[in-house]
Amino acid sequence: MNAIPAEKLNASNTLGHFIAGDDVADSNRSMPVSNPATGKVVRHVAMASKDTVLSAIAAAEAAFLPWRNTPPAKRAQVMFRYKQLLEEHADEIVALLSEEHGKVLDDAMGEFTRGVEVVEYACGIPELLKGEFSKNAGPRIDSWSELQPLGVVAGITPFNFPAMVPMWMFPMAIACGNTFILKPSEKDPSAPLMLARLLSEAGLPDGVFNVVNGDKEAVDTLLEDQRVQAVSFVGSTAIAEYIYATGTRNGKRVQALGGAKNHAIVMPDADMDNTVNALIGAAYGSCGERCMAISVAVCVGDETADTIVGRLTASLADLRVGSGDDVSNNMGPLVTREHRDKVKGYVDLGVEEGATLVVDGRNLVVEGHENGFFLGPCLFDHVNESMRIYQEEIFGPVLCIVRAESQEQAMRLIDEHEYGNGTCIFTRDGEAARYFSDNIKVGMVGINVPLPVPVAYHSFGGWKRSLFGDLYAYGPDSVRFYTRRKTITQRWPAGGVREQAQFAFPSTS
Ligand code: NAD
Repeated sequence: MNAIPAEKLNASNTLGHFIAGDDVADSNRSMPVSNPATGKVVRHVAMASKDTVLSAIAAAEAAFLPWRNTPPAKRAQVMFRYKQLLEEHADEIVALLSEEHGKVLDDAMGEFTRGVEVVEYACGIPELLKGEFSKNAGPRIDSWSELQPLGVVAGITPFNFPAMVPMWMFPMAIACGNTFILKPSEKDPSAPLMLARLLSEAGLPDGVFNVVNGDKEAVDTLLEDQRVQAVSFVGSTAIAEYIYATGTRNGKRVQALGGAKNHAIVMPDADMDNTVNALIGAAYGSCGERCMAISVAVCVGDETADTIVGRLTASLADLRVGSGDDVSNNMGPLVTREHRDKVKGYVDLGVEEGATLVVDGRNLVVEGHENGFFLGPCLFDHVNESMRIYQEEIFGPVLCIVRAESQEQAMRLIDEHEYGNGTCIFTRDGEAARYFSDNIKVGMVGINVPLPVPVAYHSFGGWKRSLFGDLYAYGPDSVRFYTRRKTITQRWPAGGVREQAQFAFPSTS
């Protein structure tokens, strides 16, 4: 399989959708997809009309009953074959991720691997769906609970993890017996289409997994259609809030994961070399375009701050920025010109607000890639809570240093921030670490671990305005999200026994 088979692109080099087991062209509006390292448009992607989305919903609905009735062990076999196919095609998928998103190849491989781990978790679906059974819940009465799939469910995903975030959703939704419609980001649509084709090749029946490319028109159609039972969303907080409000108003189960501003606390006793290395990877990896990126380091004590700023400044001079497909680079471009300009605007704003710009990446030029959407690493010192660069999610290679006098003051900053996705503490003190993890108001916590992204058999989710809904992504919570419980109580009267009418409320006595 080629990365993007020529026959899948129409004459205008436009990607369509994947509906009912096949690539579907679309003559509706389209959007350009750029290679951020060169700034060139590499293809276009169709924006689904309402009718196209309705046809995907119809395909998913038609596929639901047979798929629901397929034994979980058979569904697991599809997932096993899928995992194998994904691994065989890993390099092609990773190349597509790097081409359209801009991230460096080993980072793209990391994202892909974390997605495949959810497919591995989905291979255990017979065990996960076993349910509960109580014999003799009453006289000659047995009772059990089943986890039944919901029906047609949808996923809407962001640009920054075009493979991993969809894989947080559809493998578990499908393994649970649902059918799925994915609306991926319009900025990097090729990898999701390839994920769909491979799942079909793994033996998934047509219509169980569908991809519609598009924008608000497609999303709103999914949110309003009564056949769609549940929606998983990952993206910015403003849209997450809209999806949650609109989806729940239309009677759907919704989980909507939003933006972040992840703080790291650096205690005076931390291992400074390891802390600096951890901060560089977590702040500048993937050009800071990660919802778990560390964008604020709160240093406890001026001496700690001076040490961290000094060592970060020295290390950032060696950070290699360039095209993602050059394996010697550490950081690629930002995803689009608009996003690069927005991040650059935040750096200008930080200077205006009075923060000290210690490392300024604004004038970076990457030789041979002068039209790419590059921005060098930026480091601000003396940032405070009243500044917009502290309050707002920048989503770029910008790290803010805030100076605090104590662990309590540092933790108060984190607790008072509107986001609560991830956080971490660097320390050698077990008591300080335990106090931090016990009390901090954030969903995912690291102790000397800068990116505490839960493994596939735990679940991923933030607190406060980083998540709307009750259940997290993937792991055990995904079984709860993509199923509904049904409890059955059964009696088969023994031969010859006549049951009397009972007027009292049934009880076990
Ligand atoms: P985004 O909110 O702009 O887009 C996300 C999805 O929503 C896309 O599919 C997009 O097409 C769709 N969308 C955009 N505007 C819409 C509208 N008005 N109506 C309906 N649908 C709309 O997010 P993005 O820029 O693609 O991704 C970056 C954001 O995602 C950051 O805020 C980041 O923190 C967040 N993110 C969060 C997590 C998490 O787990 N919490 C993970 C990854 C990314």
